[in-house]
Amino acid sequence: MAEINRRIVLAARPHGEPNPSHFRLEEGRVPAPREGEVLLRTRWLSLDPYMRGRMSAAKSYAEPVGIGEVMTGEVVAEVTASNNPAYQVGDLVTAFSGWQDYAVSAGKALRRVDPALAPPTTALGVLGMPGMTAYTGLLTIGQPKPGETVVVAAAAGPVGSLVGQIARIRGARAVGIAGGPEKCAYLRDELGFDAAVDHRGEDLPGALAAACPNGIDVYFENVGGAVFEAVLPLLNDFARVPVCGLVAGYNATELPPGPDRTPVLMRAILTRRLHLQGFIVWDFADQAAAFGREVGAWLKAGRVTYREDIVEGLENAPEAFIGMLQGRNFGKLVVRVA
Ligand code: NDP
Repeated sequence: MAEINRRIVLAARPHGEPNPSHFRLEEGRVPAPREGEVLLRTRWLSLDPYMRGRMSAAKSYAEPVGIGEVMTGEVVAEVTASNNPAYQVGDLVTAFSGWQDYAVSAGKALRRVDPALAPPTTALGVLGMPGMTAYTGLLTIGQPKPGETVVVAAAAGPVGSLVGQIARIRGARAVGIAGGPEKCAYLRDELGFDAAVDHRGEDLPGALAAACPNGIDVYFENVGGAVFEAVLPLLNDFARVPVCGLVAGYNATELPPGPDRTPVLMRAILTRRLHLQGFIVWDFADQAAAFGREVGAWLKAGRVTYREDIVEGLENAPEAFIGMLQGRNFGKLVVRVA
């Protein structure tokens, strides 16, 4: 019997939180590679918060996924047939081939994965796009100095956990914000953060102030919303804020109620000479080699560590993705596809 290609497509655009009806599992034929192409079999699929943006039609830095199109995503895949001399059957690569079992590629945008160096899933996490986001955003924009206080939210995830660990390597004090006591204990006990604050606990502003007695010099923004509200009064003069993500608002359908707080923010930027800079990881593509070398060496030496949350089966990707936006993942969320 011929193999089937299962693929998860965008069935409808969510208004607010996505639910399973916004996705559809389809079956089709496995594509055949033409001259110069390879056939890729997905082994692991990365699930990332940015995918929520691709489900919306709103203008952003990347094109949305079309209705009926395969959900976008990066995978670690195995070459299972090759008409391209650069790739052999059995090679492992990363590819942006989406939520499906198989895809063909001309080989141009593939990145080789060497399973002898590190487990292949790390190419989607600590040694992949999220890791590079943490490394470039923190070091290029945040520029932490010894003794300074670095705060990061979504701190138990792949971006935040590396931000805190690099801050420590650079001699700064790392304070993580995460949802729930278990994630906070992990930050302190396993990742070596100096302090951890539960954003679901009581009195976030008070708890954060207590964890940052000298104020905040670098705030790596992953979240926005109530967390940013708690951070803003604590930012020191000349604090740096790499604006990486705003996951608390990805499902928002309207602006929060209440008075316009923009003047408060603008006044803080002016009087405290704050530096806020948004970035997309690919802005720093020229740092990819340095990132791989340096974080690879830290990983090998045990100076950084990581945690993965592995979900079994492509069919479970929608549920896992929906859960990630609610904080149900604990570590880099990856789907084992084959
Ligand atoms: P995570 O695996 O950390 O998943 C997102 C986490 O966000 C959840 O687990 C949850 O953790 C937290 N969260 C969700 N809602 C809220 C909320 N209302 N308040 C506080 N925390 C919340 O994701 P990543 O490490 O992959 O990504 C982290 C951020 O980095 C995201 O904003 C993402 O979009 C951004 N990003 C940006 C890139 C860029 O190029 N600019 C590239 C890659 C990622 P908890 O249980 O702790 O609340």
